[in-house]
Amino acid sequence: MGQSMIPAAKPLIGDEERAAVDRVLASGMIAQGPEVAAFESEFAAELVGGRTCVAVNSGTSGLHLGLLAAGIGPGDEVVVPSFTFAATANSVALAGATPVFADIDATTFCLDAASVEEVLTERTAAIMPVHLYGHPADMSALRELADRRGVRLFEDAAQAHGATWQGAPVGSFGDFAMFSLYPTKNMTSGEGGMVSCASEEIARNVRLLRNQGMERRYENEVVGFNSRMTDVHAAIGRVQLRKLPAWTAQRRANADFLSAHLDGVGVPVVADGATHVWHQYTIRVPEGRDAFAQALAAEYGVGSGVYYPIPNHELPSFGVAADLPVTARACAEVLSLPVHPALSQEDLERIVTGVNALAKAGA
Ligand SMILES: *Cc1c(COP(=O)(O)O)cnc(C)c1O
Repeated sequence: MGQSMIPAAKPLIGDEERAAVDRVLASGMIAQGPEVAAFESEFAAELVGGRTCVAVNSGTSGLHLGLLAAGIGPGDEVVVPSFTFAATANSVALAGATPVFADIDATTFCLDAASVEEVLTERTAAIMPVHLYGHPADMSALRELADRRGVRLFEDAAQAHGATWQGAPVGSFGDFAMFSLYPTKNMTSGEGGMVSCASEEIARNVRLLRNQGMERRYENEVVGFNSRMTDVHAAIGRVQLRKLPAWTAQRRANADFLSAHLDGVGVPVVADGATHVWHQYTIRVPEGRDAFAQALAAEYGVGSGVYYPIPNHELPSFGVAADLPVTARACAEVLSLPVHPALSQEDLERIVTGVNALAKAGA
């Protein structure tokens, strides 16, 4: 059709990020140093109400080290959603514990407390919801359940920088929470992750594990990893953190436009008490989702994504039985449309035109 494709996601890297990288490279100090320390304290102040933050080299490392720092290990079960990116359950398995999969709420796509309660056992050590697509999980119900049953609460906030639940930011509820800084997330450091910690003990443990188990050089206290963030990556992340509020506002405006104009498809719902940061704008296409996505690309030049097509418990890497009907339906029906802050008004209109026409043709 000769029109350019609207991408499903688009990292925004500008002159300020390039200048920041240049400044670090010119300093000759490239590995973890003052930029990482500044990024940690700025992220803490901006996004998690001042909780101590520890930067690592990926979101997956952040989950893995957070779990280990909180004392999770062999014999423990951690309840996670099956409808998420595999890193959620992978990190539980890498910590030596067992991921146990529960179902999601049909409107928010986040972990459903009633389903979690059904899979709790005497081995359950923690519940780890995912704030999927940038929408917070129901932290009131999950906190009540965790306290009542004496288990811990962690957060996979990889997709939800700045989202809030009952006025409090995600990342301020769990014993630890992880934010991903991968390029397609709401902000990036290239690769990276940030761990928000409820206690200085957990923060110290994450710092030890990130750096070979050392606080003081060559006095290794525990067996650790090299999961450090570099100052180059932190310098990018610091610039992106300053741009995040405007980007989030643009994502919201884009989502509002789509919801006001889309017709004939199920549009996303924001739960009472939640603010959504629209990492994804996800509709449901009950019949023929994959053909719908192909036609949207071929006929209208609109990219889209299916997050996620296979429930994690059914992946070859896990392959365990679980009866999760809401998850199964979501995997078959969800389609995420572009909502990122680089969209133009023409892009938004083309998305609406394409989706509405295809929905009408399918009806
Ligand atoms: C991206 C993501 C991760 C992993 O983060 P990386 O920075 O890619 O390692 C974990 N959980 C969820 C839900 C994610 O979307």
